[in-house]
Amino acid sequence: MANQHFEMDEFLLELLRSRSPTGTEQEAGRLVEKYMSGYADTILRDNIGNRIAYLGDGKKILMLAGHMDEIGFLVSYIDDDGYIFFQQLGGHDNVMLSGRRVQILTKNGPVYGVTGKRAVHLMDAKERKEVPETHQVWIDIGVKGREEAEKLVKIGDPVVYDTIVHMLSGNRCTARAFDDKAGCYCVFEAMRRLARAESKPAYKVVSVATTQEEIGTRGAWPAAYAVNPHVGLAVDVDHATDFPSCDKRKFGGIKLGGGVVISRGPNINPKVFERLVGCAEDNNIPYQVSAEPRPTGTDARIIQMVRGGVATGLLGIPLRYMHTPAEVADLSDIENCVKLIESFALSLSENDDFTY
Ligand SMILES: [Zn+2]
Repeated sequence: MANQHFEMDEFLLELLRSRSPTGTEQEAGRLVEKYMSGYADTILRDNIGNRIAYLGDGKKILMLAGHMDEIGFLVSYIDDDGYIFFQQLGGHDNVMLSGRRVQILTKNGPVYGVTGKRAVHLMDAKERKEVPETHQVWIDIGVKGREEAEKLVKIGDPVVYDTIVHMLSGNRCTARAFDDKAGCYCVFEAMRRLARAESKPAYKVVSVATTQEEIGTRGAWPAAYAVNPHVGLAVDVDHATDFPSCDKRKFGGIKLGGGVVISRGPNINPKVFERLVGCAEDNNIPYQVSAEPRPTGTDARIIQMVRGGVATGLLGIPLRYMHTPAEVADLSDIENCVKLIESFALSLSENDDFTY
């Protein structure tokens, strides 16, 4: 098992390559529609960009949520020389901002640029130690002035880092935005397998590619209201802590390749947690447990609170370097997450009672 090799599914690869900064998730949404057609009974869109896929006709509903938005930037100002300034979409580490290739997603397709900042030789000793503020970094698209820039780029155009997906050693892979293309993939891949499986879940399964998670779980809110589930599972990335300088006394001991993370705490229905652990144990699915003492920063936060309250669980895919252009995940964790979702869905019965 430890040395088993996992191929990356084309659906996941395409999601990782798609550009879906918060508020402009359509490219990822189209992939969900493409890969789920023939598996889901119906796929709907709503007015906040969510993609909602339905499977089966059970009376009770299991909602699976993985957000398809990724962090990025929004063009906010173009100066006289044609340099482009931006605001952040979601939480960035400003250390990462400069020296990057970026794509500005315009109405007429991507415009390529780089993020610039004064070179190290042109800084004094104090400046070399400073982290730039966002407005101190700009995008250079190679134009000679404002007029030329404005023909190509408009205020409010979204921006993403221009990166490529690369396998590292073994099952490890680097990409921009495993957060949360990985979780989004899992909720739909689990549905594809359920659609093909002989035994059918007792619940109707509704998989949602949610939008706007990175600015406050905004897509999951109307989606959960509309779907009105009995049980909800959010699937997101979770911090692996197995690298230098990460104090496990503060951040826990989550390992990349150590299995799917099952969260536990007030944001999680205790019976859903027990069921998830039971499914993992029964099916020999490697898992790790993460303590979450507060509302999590994931779709689970809002799903639990919708309408009369939803029995909610949270699965995590261990991830290093979250919210950077070089996130690292392990494909075995993603596969284990899919398996756990599938076995959890099959474990549900109409008589289940998740009140406590
Ligand atoms: Zn995130």
